[in-house]
Amino acid sequence: MTTFVEYSSCWRRIFFSLTAVLATLVQTVTSAAAAGVIDYDLDLRLLPDQHRIDGRALLTSVQEPITPPLRLGGDAAVTSVEVDGHRVAFSFAGGRLTWQEDAGGGWSRSVTVTYQAAFNDPVPLDTVGIEDPSFGVRATILPQGTFLAEGVAWFPQRDGQRGRHRVRVSAPAGVLTVTAGRLVSQATAAGSTVCEWHNSFPLGGLALAAGRYQMTSERLDDIQLLTFLSPENANLAASYQAAMRRHLAFYRDLLGPYPFAKFAVVENFLPTGYGLPSWTLLGSSVVRLPFLLDTSLPHEIVHSWWGNAVEIDYAGGNWGEGLATYLADYLLKERSQPQEALEYRRKILRDYAALVTVQNDFPLRAFGGRQAKYQQAIGYGKGAMVFHMLRRQIGEEAFRSGLRRMAAEGNGRSLSWTALEEIFSRVSGQELRWFFHQWLEQSGGPDLAFDKVTVSRRGKGWTVSGAVVQTEPAYRLELVLRLTSATGKVLEQTLPLNDRRTPFTIASAEPPALLAGDPDSHLFRRLAATELPATINDLLAPQRPLVLVAAGQDGLLPAVRDLLKGLHWEDAEIVNEADFHPPAATGRDLLLLGWPGRTELRPQLPAGLTIAASHPPSWQVADATGATDTLFTVLSGRQDGAGLRALLLADSAEAARQAAAKISHYGRYSLLLFANGRNLVKSTWEANVSPLRVVFSKDSLP
Ligand SMILES: [Zn+2]
Repeated sequence: MTTFVEYSSCWRRIFFSLTAVLATLVQTVTSAAAAGVIDYDLDLRLLPDQHRIDGRALLTSVQEPITPPLRLGGDAAVTSVEVDGHRVAFSFAGGRLTWQEDAGGGWSRSVTVTYQAAFNDPVPLDTVGIEDPSFGVRATILPQGTFLAEGVAWFPQRDGQRGRHRVRVSAPAGVLTVTAGRLVSQATAAGSTVCEWHNSFPLGGLALAAGRYQMTSERLDDIQLLTFLSPENANLAASYQAAMRRHLAFYRDLLGPYPFAKFAVVENFLPTGYGLPSWTLLGSSVVRLPFLLDTSLPHEIVHSWWGNAVEIDYAGGNWGEGLATYLADYLLKERSQPQEALEYRRKILRDYAALVTVQNDFPLRAFGGRQAKYQQAIGYGKGAMVFHMLRRQIGEEAFRSGLRRMAAEGNGRSLSWTALEEIFSRVSGQELRWFFHQWLEQSGGPDLAFDKVTVSRRGKGWTVSGAVVQTEPAYRLELVLRLTSATGKVLEQTLPLNDRRTPFTIASAEPPALLAGDPDSHLFRRLAATELPATINDLLAPQRPLVLVAAGQDGLLPAVRDLLKGLHWEDAEIVNEADFHPPAATGRDLLLLGWPGRTELRPQLPAGLTIAASHPPSWQVADATGATDTLFTVLSGRQDGAGLRALLLADSAEAARQAAAKISHYGRYSLLLFANGRNLVKSTWEANVSPLRVVFSKDSLP
């Protein structure tokens, strides 16, 4: 049985990929000018009541002249423009600020713009769960909080050129402002709070947030660790400080120096979450999720390296999510609980098999960002597995030194998959074209199966022989074969595959009991349908559905009417146990309400679940603790002409009614346990039928 947290880890993608696309477009247009770094000195006043900022922006460049146009967003007005200290005539329309350049050239080293800009995107505060990060608000200034996104041009900026920033914001007393870089000062006087930030890392854009925060500040060597939380959530600061310290120390050790001056966890009044260079912005309800500290927080911290300091060359495919997923979501599990890491790899394979079809599949190199779950299964899931296989292919030391080379060589630049291939080839001394070719350029994954596996006697021992077959195109893989004997002795051998058919032979001194290929799921492959556990989602398209009400359990039926409706089972035939003849269920999807008294009607239970035929029936689930009043499970899927089998048990009709309302929200699970309508356990059954698994019964051995 496997248990995992329902959670999609990375929100930054949509936001970031939009700005990246925008930046790419802009860069394409202005690439001739895209060279020098501009220094921005911003002196701003934040007026939340008027949804407005007033300010002065000084742009300087030592490398080359600053040429028009500048872009300024929002509902903006420009008061004056000075070029190298001289007021000039300008025009501002459609967000474009231009002025007459000096025909002789040689000036425009500095441009000063005084301006006002209002931002007031409508804010739907109550509609969004964390599954949907595309919230739509990109720029809004309100008394309850301010958020100005990177691409919005809330100060006059030169698109296509990176900037360093000195930002001073004066806001109403108690309103703290946060942006990229180091917090230089923060002071309140004469009814205003002024925050000053210096960002010395050349960035393509700058976001800003403000609110009535309580701030905490600690250090990890020269890195500022900051939290900006609302008074309601200020008690979380200590655990965020500890988690930032723990994760930054770990990743600094793994990847090399942390590229920024600070890391800040900032609460957003909008229910969103963003990962930004040197800070993360989390909605109030998100900030309170306890598992965040060791899931999305480290994921966003890893993006400090991959996606922020080292940018992703999107034209060549987005490798950043696969790597962040591997180094955060996956690697932290591997460090704490190897069994959880194994489950995580299996979950990746299951998600891919369940969500990606021949029609919607695409090569990993074509992944840009996540708009739908199937894209996530490829870009995050398959991407993470590719880094896992790369690590196993070149070894731990070369993998780590490759990561550090990526961080060092890519700092302040963008890297493509091709650059990664070159770096990992160099550090490992291995030619890796075949590896990157097979995993990046073609869609799909290996489709592996045992073929003609037989056992023969040899002297006092046994020989297991057979072949591994794969469909075209054949992958180059190292497949672990694990032979377990009847006495529990384990033999392992690694079989190199490179063809449609690869024969193997394993000699065993003891009688074999089980042969498994890739038993620890180290390879990315397309799982067979029989390897996927049946889940609640499978119930949603019922085939000739039948509801069997166990004797004495009629009270459950009215309680679960809404559940039947939610699962599209409202037209199911309903039969009482006393009137039921088992052949009537052949080939049909069947939901049992209650535990039948007639033993021939009781379905086979997965390992880990036992049910006692008491009144009401009681159950026991391996690893699950705590008293529960309702159990719902999908026991088996549609295989070999049989229909689905699902079961609902409850202590009372009221318990069933409370749980039933929620069941259809847990589509990817096969077992749910509830107490008073609250879900306590959600998990999936292990599927034991695999084309890479052969069980030898005692009687069949020679
Ligand atoms: Zn991410």
